[in-house]
Amino acid sequence: MGTSAFRHRIALLRQRLFENGNESFDAAWILQPENRRYLSGFKAQDSQLTESSGSLLITGKDLILVTDGRYTTEAEEEAVDFQVYTIKQDFAESFAEILHSVGAVSVGFEEEFVTWGLHRQLSEKLRSFSSPVRLVPLEGIVEEMREVKDPLEIQAMAASADLISQIVDEVISWLKPGMAEKRVAWQIEGLAREKGADGLAFPSIVASGPHGALPHAVPTERPLKAGEPIILDVGVRLHGYCSDMTRTVFLGEPDPEFRNIYRIVRQAQIAALKETRPGVQSTHPDSTARQVIGDQGFGDYFTHSLGHGVGLATHERPRLGPRKPVKLKAGMVVTVEPGVYLPGKGGVRLEEMVVIQDDGPRILTKSRCFYDFAP
Ligand code: ZN
Ligand code: ZN
Repeated sequence: MGTSAFRHRIALLRQRLFENGNESFDAAWILQPENRRYLSGFKAQDSQLTESSGSLLITGKDLILVTDGRYTTEAEEEAVDFQVYTIKQDFAESFAEILHSVGAVSVGFEEEFVTWGLHRQLSEKLRSFSSPVRLVPLEGIVEEMREVKDPLEIQAMAASADLISQIVDEVISWLKPGMAEKRVAWQIEGLAREKGADGLAFPSIVASGPHGALPHAVPTERPLKAGEPIILDVGVRLHGYCSDMTRTVFLGEPDPEFRNIYRIVRQAQIAALKETRPGVQSTHPDSTARQVIGDQGFGDYFTHSLGHGVGLATHERPRLGPRKPVKLKAGMVVTVEPGVYLPGKGGVRLEEMVVIQDDGPRILTKSRCFYDFAP
């Protein structure tokens, strides 16, 4: 992303936070790694929840990135519009002083990401100042901005989806009965690195036979067997952007029960893709897929939402599920991933990643590895 993209985002955020008669905030404290990257270009990820690599402080006139000595160089190189402060002591104490020095009174914070401990420490420091400084929830303003992707982001996501599609096609061509799930997962990871991905977007799911009934199965030593459904749910991160795709494959002659389930899941996916368009509620593609699966008697076995937004994070807004409807817009990138899971037996999931466009969804995941099972 060029600096103009970041400047545009900052201008939009400032407009939403500080203008239009909004008096709730006079600063925003951005800690969440994807939000931080989206607004500043600072790429560092956090190795764990309690190990932040930096915080942005955005006011009507200041752009400050507060970090520690481990990240100063990257912060200066990557977040070119931000003034970088390297703190040497306690974060809460130093950050409270910075908030005070910029004259912030009402500071927006990401209530889903700031731990209770950090909130308490900072609040205690802020209380020691004579003039009060309040922490006010941002209520997902930046996450909402990230919902609709700009053309450069869509380009980055298309490249990420292309890469995972190539990897999956290559891996599927090697699959043989007897290979362990873990070995397949390792090949996917190796190929991702060889082909230039930043890394995996999430730990790969390679779930064969009964393991496929667990939507978030972890690869094991179980050998692949002929006839059973094998779920590959994988994604890479490329230039920061995630891809997410699922294929279900069979080695040899497919089991008749799962052949039928596959046909139903694919039918549900195609029906839901048609309804994934601007102006419809996010619950609508989900209910479309649920209807197809329910009509054929498997409604109780589609146990998760239809899909989710993808971007700098693998799972982000909007959610395509039965609850919390939001209106879908052109430029959103979402997955459409119906599945049917029979406990103890196995599962089928098919997942495409698409850009919502006025003339219908544009499918970014390129692997055409689908079966065309007749009813
Ligand atoms: Zn997935
Ligand atoms: Zn997904």
